[in-house]
Amino acid sequence: MYEAPVGEIGFTLKAVAGLGQVLGKGRFTELSEDVVEAVLTEAGRFCAEEMVPLAAVGDQKGAVFHDGRVTTPPGWKDLYRRWCEGGWNAVAGPAEFGGQDLPAMVATAVLEIWNSASMGFAVGPTLTFGAVEALEKHASAELRAKYLAKLVSGEWMGTMNLTEPQAGSDLGALRTRAEPAADGTYRIFGQKIFITYGEHDFTDNIVHMVLARLPDAPAGTRGISLFLVPKFLVDDDGKIGARNDVVCAGIEHKVGIHASPTCTMLYGDGSIEGREPGAVGWLVGEENKGLACMFTMMNNARLAVGIQGVAVAEAAYQKARSYAAERRQGRAPGDKMDGHKGEMSPIIAHPDVKRTLLTMKTLTGAARAIAYSCAHAIDMGGVTEGEEQRHWQERAGLLTPVAKAFSTDVGVEVASLGVQVHGGMGFIEETGAARFYRDARIAPIYEGTNGIQAIDLVTRKLPLSDGGHVIGYIGELQADVEALRESNLPGFGETADRLASALADLDLATRFLQQAQADGRTEEALAGATPYLRLFGLAAGGALLARGALANGETRPMALCRFFAENLVGECAALRDRVVSGWASIEAAEAALL
Ligand SMILES: Cc1cc2nc3c(=O)[nH]c(=O)nc-3n(C[C@H](O)[C@H](O)[C@H](O)COP(=O)(O)OP(=O)(O)OC[C@H]3O[C@@H](n4cnc5c(N)ncnc54)[C@H](O)[C@@H]3O)c2cc1C
Repeated sequence: MYEAPVGEIGFTLKAVAGLGQVLGKGRFTELSEDVVEAVLTEAGRFCAEEMVPLAAVGDQKGAVFHDGRVTTPPGWKDLYRRWCEGGWNAVAGPAEFGGQDLPAMVATAVLEIWNSASMGFAVGPTLTFGAVEALEKHASAELRAKYLAKLVSGEWMGTMNLTEPQAGSDLGALRTRAEPAADGTYRIFGQKIFITYGEHDFTDNIVHMVLARLPDAPAGTRGISLFLVPKFLVDDDGKIGARNDVVCAGIEHKVGIHASPTCTMLYGDGSIEGREPGAVGWLVGEENKGLACMFTMMNNARLAVGIQGVAVAEAAYQKARSYAAERRQGRAPGDKMDGHKGEMSPIIAHPDVKRTLLTMKTLTGAARAIAYSCAHAIDMGGVTEGEEQRHWQERAGLLTPVAKAFSTDVGVEVASLGVQVHGGMGFIEETGAARFYRDARIAPIYEGTNGIQAIDLVTRKLPLSDGGHVIGYIGELQADVEALRESNLPGFGETADRLASALADLDLATRFLQQAQADGRTEEALAGATPYLRLFGLAAGGALLARGALANGETRPMALCRFFAENLVGECAALRDRVVSGWASIEAAEAALL
């Protein structure tokens, strides 16, 4: 049974990611570490008592589509209501609209807890948070007044409508039309696919954020605008009115996150009786600047999806660890964990299982450290000004694709190892290990595939500050490792050498990719993007574990950091080679694909 690792999350926030620095600034100065700890503890309690018991039923029953309506699994509507009553939807919402305005670091930490209990549940509110942020930053005062308070409280939920059959990673190809109406609103026509919680029974109204094209819009991504399209129109005093011309045509049958309805949405198909065809929409932000507005929502969502990777990895680790302590097979050499001589050992006593569990544990810890560091940078960007703000915004930009892609790859890897630790029972649904594996698989795909994240890292983030930002970041990580070396603590073994070598590999690969782009060797740079992102995650994750272990000074984090450095970061040298010399062999072999 999953138990929220409140102590470990709090430790990562404080000793690794820099919570204290955020609490000392701007609107967060009223907040203390004790309050943050209390929030995490209460989230852990709600999760254990209310969410965990409903997670399996959510997976087994799933969301059901019938006659245009979607019914969520038994007990889930009530769960959502209690969760909102607890104030959890409002954690990061703006105070002006009833939110608690807590830092992104805290919002990210509680989101980890919800996602460990059930990704299928947590993914819905995640999109509402994104809608709140996009509206807060870009919508007119009138739209904000009408919608924000209800979205912040969770009375209504929000969605994100980008994808169309011919427009997935390439949003420039989207065709949904927005025609201006005489009253200043727009009529939206088109089909969106894969829309998470596009239709459901949690709330009375659903607020869709929709990307569409105006009739005279330029081609490609420069001709996309963002619209707010409610399921039900809302009158001037905020009451729900007539049904809008937006319907759900069906939901997908998926590998995982069964409780989360993934909807095909039809805008303006004229199927609502008594209405002229055309879904009524309101422009958010400026015409043709919709993608930039949507990016407000997507950046938030990218870190949130990264946290799904951390969360599912944590839950999978806990399950595997407790199974390994129970299940007995064979006799482990040097079994120190069991006094009963002659009996079979618990499988946790076998060296191969220990290595597997420690791999799961430390990969999860490294991914968590990166994700919370990203949240820290987002918070710092919100409470600083001028040059300092630019620095933190660049840091958030640099870490977002790593937090998204490294963590979600870790989620799949760790959940897969979790199935392995269970042996045959891992492949049997009743055990529950397979659910984590199935749920984890979507996270490297949505919110921009991990391939697209790697390209973003290499082509948009490495050039920040003329290439200086990433080099400065690697320098900070190197300083952490040098501090560890200088500590001379024997418990760290070869940690300092291994991490220094991984960071040297990262530095070399970074400079190579910067130069390749400066020289116009684009194919070379793009071919190296995915191995580079993994290299970044492993090297940075290791250095951040070292920072935490040194701050803590106890043997347990030290031993985990040492395990990571001596067992996992060796991969960095091979990844560096793939970045630096991978393209020649891809080019030579590409004919084999024809
Ligand atoms: C369960 C689920 C929920 C979803 N929820 C939402 C939602 O709420 N709202 C929404 O709008 N969308 C949603 N999506 C859609 C999701 O964001 C897309 O599936 C995703 O962006 C990938 O697009 P695609 O499926 O068309 O794949 P494609 O774009 O066809 O990509 C296929 C492969 O090609 C690679 N590729 C594509 N272009 C490039 C390139 N330029 N360079 C290198 N490699 C490339 C990709 O990395 C990928 O491996 C959801 C999808 C699922 C399955």
